[in-house]
Amino acid sequence: MTVKDRVALVTGASSGLGTDFARMLAGEGATVILAARRVEVLAALKAEIEAAGRKAQTVALDVSSEASIAAAFAELDQRGIALDIVVNNAGISGAAPAITLSAQDWDSVVNTNLRGVFLVAQAAAQRMRDTKRGGSIVNVASILGHRVAGNVAAYAASKAGVVHLTEALALEWARYGIRVNSLCPGYIETEINRNFFATEQGQALIKRIPQRRLGAPSDLDGALLLLASDAGRYMTGSSVVVDGGHL
Ligand code: NDP
Repeated sequence: MTVKDRVALVTGASSGLGTDFARMLAGEGATVILAARRVEVLAALKAEIEAAGRKAQTVALDVSSEASIAAAFAELDQRGIALDIVVNNAGISGAAPAITLSAQDWDSVVNTNLRGVFLVAQAAAQRMRDTKRGGSIVNVASILGHRVAGNVAAYAASKAGVVHLTEALALEWARYGIRVNSLCPGYIETEINRNFFATEQGQALIKRIPQRRLGAPSDLDGALLLLASDAGRYMTGSSVVVDGGHL
C-alpha cells in the first residue's frame, strides 16, 4: 500500500477530507500538491507538512472554472511536476428542496462536483498518457451517488454522475495504464455537514447508522490508500463505499 515517492494532487485540500487525505499521503511518503481556491489555507497546511519533514506544494485551483484548471496544470507543467495520483475531492453540497431549486444552484453543484471532476481528471490523464507513466485517479463521490435522501437532488445527481463517469473513464483509459475509481464516503463529520448533524434531524440520522457514529475523515484513509497505491493495481472502475454500514 505504498505511495512513497509518488506525486499526488489533492483537490479541495483546504478543508475536511482533502486536508486529511493530503496529510495521510504526505505521511506515507508522497509529495502532495495541495489545490483549492483558498491558497492561504493551503500555505498553512504546506508549512505543517514540511515541518513534519514531508513534501508539499500548493496550487490555486477553482474546479468550476475551465480557465483556472488550465492555468493550474500549466503551472504544474512549468514546475516539471508529473502526477502519479489524483484525488478529485473538491465538492460542495447545496442542500435545497427540489421543488424550488434554482437553475443557478443546480449549475453551481453540478459544475463543481461533476464537470470539475471530469475536467481535472482529463487534464491529468492527458499528461499521464503523454509521459507513459500511467497513474491512479480517485474521484470522491458519495453514498448519495448510489442512493438518495431528501433535499439533495442536485448533489445526489452530481455524485451518481461521478460514479458513472468513473466507470466510463476507467474503460477508456485502462489502455494508458490509468486506473480510475470512485470513493464513496458515508456521513463524515466536516464543514460540509457540521451544522446539519447538530440538528435534531441530523442526530436522528446518526442513530440509524449501523455503527452508530459519524465517520471521521481518517476512517477513509485505508480505502484511499488502497485505490491510490499499487495494492489496488487490478482495480479500475470500482466504487468503494465506506459508510459505517448501510442506513
Ligand atoms: P468541506 O466543505 O470540508 O471541503 C470542501 C473542499 O472543496 C474545500 O477544500 C474547498 O476549498 C473545496 N472546493 C469547493 N469548491 C471548490 C472549487 N470550485 N474549486 C476548488 N476547490 C473547491 O467538505 P468535505 O471535506 O466534507 O468534502 C470533500 C468531498 O467529499 C466533497 O466532494 C464531498 O461531496 C465529498 N463527501 C463528503 C461527505 C461528508 O460526509 N463529509 C460524504 C460524502 C462525500 P476552497 O473553498 O478553498 O476552494
